[in-house]
Amino acid sequence: MNKIDEKSAARLLRENDNILILTHRNPDGDTIGSGFALLHALKKLGKTVKVVCTDPFPEKYGYIAHSNNDDVGENPYVVAVDVADMELIGAQYRAKYEHGVKLCIDHHISNKEFAENLCLRSCSATCEIIYDVIKAMDVEIDKSVADSLYTGIATDTGCFLFSSVTARTHIIAADLIEHGADFFEINRIMFETKSLGYFKLEAAALNTVEMHCGGKCAFMTVTMDMQKQSGTKDGDFDGIAGLPRKIEGVLVAVTFRETKDGNFKVSMRSHEPIDSSKICMNFGGGGHSRAAGCTFEKEALEENKKKLLSIIETELKGI
Ligand code: AMP
Ligand code: MN
Ligand code: MN
Repeated sequence: MNKIDEKSAARLLRENDNILILTHRNPDGDTIGSGFALLHALKKLGKTVKVVCTDPFPEKYGYIAHSNNDDVGENPYVVAVDVADMELIGAQYRAKYEHGVKLCIDHHISNKEFAENLCLRSCSATCEIIYDVIKAMDVEIDKSVADSLYTGIATDTGCFLFSSVTARTHIIAADLIEHGADFFEINRIMFETKSLGYFKLEAAALNTVEMHCGGKCAFMTVTMDMQKQSGTKDGDFDGIAGLPRKIEGVLVAVTFRETKDGNFKVSMRSHEPIDSSKICMNFGGGGHSRAAGCTFEKEALEENKKKLLSIIETELKGI
């Protein structure tokens, strides 16, 4: 598929009037922020726009995830944001749009290039790219667009903490603040607020930490029982995977979270030089160099854990 630039993406969006925006499953701040920044911007151009996701948008994103009641009809122009692979869209939309996505805006190393493709892997968040596309569409950035884009950039960078952050990330964030992004409130909601259930879940999860590879690798498990007992809801898990990487000396941290179907969502976080995306690609997943994921089927959990540990051991050799 064609690689395109921000200007071409902006032209394609301007040329279409009914636009459907697909976000990835287990939606995070970047996919939601990208989707709703585009929605709010395109509505200013008089377009009919809808953002959809196979999972509900967590309530905490309610300040940007609104004004989403347009009917885009049966034949909309379909755009995917922050989606590396159609598999991440979820079965329901995949069946309908497997070959129907016209434009993909993303920043994952593992992007499968399944549509007209604007994938800039050096950007810390898809929202950085959407910022340029909105500028190229010549739409003024208002408070709802600024809040949406700031949310995506702040959440995908762990509040400007990760190695993916560049000077330009800060320049864009500063411009968004000048255009009304309520950075203090957004950061308070995203980074300084946890439900009581989430606190309990973190405590239970931290108790499962196992150390491997002479302290360079940590495994952590979050079972369905822990989730039930703590009273957490889906969408409350952003950030839990970052915890075991904080252990001194750890270069690779892996969190295995049991999902409703009994399978395990694997979230890997690493430090330089460990490439998490490369490791997860061995299991059909992917992501970024320092944050990636894949899924382990319940039947293959133990076997895959062993295989994963042996891959990690190889990667850590000589470091
Ligand atoms: P997570 O651990 O879910 O926060 O994901 C970390 C990064 O890896 C995100 O950028 C995800 O988009 C990506 N990722 C997670 N799971 C998968 C998967 N099964 N396939 C491809 N990329 C994934
Ligand atoms: Mn994402
Ligand atoms: Mn992202």
